[in-house]
Amino acid sequence: MADCIFCKIAAGEIPAQKVYEDDTVIAFKDLSPKAPIHVLIVPKKHIQSVAHFQAEDKELAAHIFVDVVPKLAADFGVDEAGFRLTINTGKDGGQTVPHLHVHFLAKRKMTWPPG
Ligand code: 5GP
Ligand code: ZN
Repeated sequence: MADCIFCKIAAGEIPAQKVYEDDTVIAFKDLSPKAPIHVLIVPKKHIQSVAHFQAEDKELAAHIFVDVVPKLAADFGVDEAGFRLTINTGKDGGQTVPHLHVHFLAKRKMTWPPG
C-alpha cells in the first residue's frame, strides 16, 4: 500500500535491521526499542490490524504464531525464559502504524498491567 512505512520496509524500499524473512512475513528490530530485544513481526501483505483480518488470512496468522514466533524465541534463546507478544490494535489499543504487527519483546522482566 502506498505511503505505508511497513509495506515499504517489506519491499526493501526503507532500510530496517531484519532478523527474519520468508515469502509472507518479515521481522525487524523496532526503531525505538522498549526492551533489550524488541522485534516487529510484520506480514508482507498490507493488513491494517487484527480487526481487519479476513478468512483468507488464517494460514498467515497461524504461520506467524506457530512458525515465526517460536523460531524467533529459539533464535534469541528466550523460549525458556519467556517473552511478551503485543498487538496494539486501533486508536484505543495504542496502534500508531496502521499495518498489522506483532511486537516481540524479551530479555527483561515485564510488568502487568500494561500502560
Ligand atoms: P504500534 O505503536 O503501532 O504498536 O507500534 C509501532 C512501532 O513501530 C513502534 O514501536 C515504533 O517504534 C516502530 N516504528 C515506527 N516506524 C518505524 C520504522 O521506520 N522502522 C522501525 N524499525 N520501526 C518503526
Ligand atoms: Zn502496509
